[in-house]
This record gives sequence, structure tokens and C-alpha cells, in this order.
Amino acid sequence: MKEIILCKYGEIVLKGANRKYFEDTLVKEMRYRASNFGKFSITNIQSTMTIEPQDDFCDLDGMFESAKRLFGIAAVSRAAVAEKSMEDIMAITKSYIPAFLEGKRTFKVEAKRSDKTFPLSSPEISREVGGAILSAMPRMRVDVHHPDVTVRVEVRERAAYIHAGQELGAGGLPVGTNGKGLLLLSGGIDSPVAGWMMAKRGVRLEAVYFESIPYTSEQARQKVLDLAALVARWSGSIMVHVVSLTKIQEELVRNCDEDYFTLLLRRYMMQIANMVAEKQGCQALITGESLGQVASQTMHALNVTNAIAKYPVFRPVIGMDKEEIVQIARRIDTFETSILPFEDCCTVFTPRHPKTKPVLEKVEEQERKLPFDELCREAFEGAQAFYIKAKF
Ligand code: ATP
Ligand code: MG
Repeated sequence: MKEIILCKYGEIVLKGANRKYFEDTLVKEMRYRASNFGKFSITNIQSTMTIEPQDDFCDLDGMFESAKRLFGIAAVSRAAVAEKSMEDIMAITKSYIPAFLEGKRTFKVEAKRSDKTFPLSSPEISREVGGAILSAMPRMRVDVHHPDVTVRVEVRERAAYIHAGQELGAGGLPVGTNGKGLLLLSGGIDSPVAGWMMAKRGVRLEAVYFESIPYTSEQARQKVLDLAALVARWSGSIMVHVVSLTKIQEELVRNCDEDYFTLLLRRYMMQIANMVAEKQGCQALITGESLGQVASQTMHALNVTNAIAKYPVFRPVIGMDKEEIVQIARRIDTFETSILPFEDCCTVFTPRHPKTKPVLEKVEEQERKLPFDELCREAFEGAQAFYIKAKF
């Protein structure tokens, strides 16, 4: 018996005239990913992507997991291939489907016949296949409204496909179809999730990480690069620009009012991010800020940092509770890395009494104590770029 993978497209089916372009983009991307798992033939037939192994050495499990990480795909299932005859469909159903019904009580069969020359109608196919399952597994019951398992039979152009283990795909839109954004990536829980969420909406990611060696460590940097690699499994490869804030932080401590350290630092970050975004052709900044989470994320504080941004700042987790962010971090596998205990530059020199209701004019007054533009330019020019190649 031959097993393949079927992928259903998500939102792109609403794309009208552009739909073909989106489908072709996804097929190309899946082919690229598939090269890591063996020889597969990948085609787009009637708005379903089929991934067919070409020999016995293919890693179908690996391919399946990877397909679930491709944005633009709504659902993924493994399917058995049958000849387009009821005999073969029934025989394959009896050998392939019981494993999916193990421990389950109810099922229904949904048949779809896109080949209209097939002698049975869809309801007839459903009835026959349902009967075959009931006779092979008499303890099962049919429940057409809330079945534990839905068995699907699709009679298509080239063959019939039988499957029961449909899983959610990554959803969203193909990466690259919505421009490029610059993610401010720290080693925390929130920013990798924020990057993932925007990549899901089709945004290609580039990232900037601010460090403060020797106050932050090499391990802290490696952790951020590791997080970028984890996000890249979904979003595709990410260029990470590493910028040193050491001098800026030392100057802030020497010259400015302690209560304003964090806010001033965040404005430096924003300004340097503006510069990186401009150079790299990014059209938005992305942060993991969540309203009220810390002093620098009150509405007043966000206004102060936002005032210096030259691009729209996407904050996809702004309205989410920590627990909701953690849930996504676990799902996308960044959580365990995010909680490794290394210092972030925001947590060195933290003020004892940070301003939670800062006034922009007061912050700018503090800012003028230092040559802001010059310090930003110096930090920007010293940036190092690390290309994090996606391992799908
Ligand atoms: P996270 O959990 O993502 O680390 P956080 O809880 O540490 O965020 P803040 O330190 O206030 O929160 O940072 C808010 C946002 O600012 C982060 O989500 C990230 O987008 C950005 N940011 C903070 N520190 C850095 C850094 N060292 N390098 C790049 N971006 C940063
Ligand atoms: Mg946070």
C-alpha cells in the first residue's frame, strides 16, 4: 500500500485571481523543504497539494511534521492511495483505517468524488465504505454529527485517497507574500512568538538583537540565535543583526536620571531598529510587547517609544496574557529555549523606580544629555549579521 501526504490550502483559496500564484509559491516552498526528507513528487491538483514519496527511503514522518509548519496550509493528512474501483477502495480502507479508529467509539465517512465518471455517487461511496468499516470493527458506531473520527474518501483524477488523521496545518499566508518585517528579538518568551505570528501573516522576517557584552554573555547571544533557528523552521531563514549597546548603556548610567534608563534604552533600540530596517528594506518593526506587562509596556511608555519609530510597529501579542503567549511558545517549540536563564541587556542597569507614566518631553530632555544620533550611528555601524539558515 502506498501512503502519501495531502495538504489543504488555507486562506489563499479566497484569493481570486492571485490564487494560482499563491498555490505555486507554496508548491515551490514545499519542494524545497521536501529535499531534506528524500525524493518526493509534489503537485497541486484541484486545490490540494499532494506529496508522494518516490522511493522507500523517504522520511514520511519528517515530511509530515515539516508540512505542518508551512504557512498557507490549513490541514495536513496522511492518506492511502487506492485504485479507482470500489473493490480496491474497500480493501485499502479495511487495512489502513483501523489504526486510526483505535480507542475511538464513533466515526463517519465523508466521500468526495471529483471524478464524475466514477460509477457511485458520493453518498453511495460513504455508505459502502461505512458498511465495510462496521463489519471489520463491529464495536464502532456511526455518528454523523460529532464523530470521534472522520474517514475521508476522495475519488480524484488519478486515484482515490483514503484518510482519517487530518491534522491542523500552520494556517496563515505564505511567507513573503506580505513584505518583510524587522523583529526585535530578545531571549524572552514573547518576541519569538511575536515574530512567528507575523510570519504567519505572510511577513518575511529579519531580526535585530541588542546585547551588552560584558554585562550580557556569549551564551545569551547564542540563545537568541537558537531561538531564531527555531522560528526559522516555520518562517524560513532569518538574518539576525547583532548590535552592541554596551557603550550606550554605560553613557546612560553616567549621564541620565536612573528612572529613565529603560525608556531611553528602548528609544535607542527603536532608532537603531529604524536604521537596520531602512538598510534591509523592511517595512515594519515587530516587537513582543504586551500591554501592562512591565513598566516599559504601559500605554504611556509605549507612546514614548512609539514616537521614535519610523515604521508601523506590529505588536501581535499586545492584547494577550502571558499564559496565552506561553501556550503558543510551547506549540512552536521556543518555550524551553526562552526560559534558559541568561541576562538580557534590558535587565542590566534596571532602574529601581522606572517611570510608568512617562512624559515624552521629560524623556527627550534626558535624551538630549547625550549625542543620540551619533551613538545610534556608531552602534548601527558596528552591527554583525548572522544568517540563520532554516532547518525544516
Ligand atoms: P521578551 O519576553 O520577548 O524578551 P520582555 O518580556 O523581555 O520581552 P521587554 O524587555 O520589555 O519585554 O521587551 C519588550 C520587547 O522589546 C521584546 O519583546 C522585544 O521585541 C524587544 N526587546 C527587548 N529586549 C531586546 C533585545 N535585547 N534585543 C532585541 N529586542 C529586544
Ligand atoms: Mg515580555
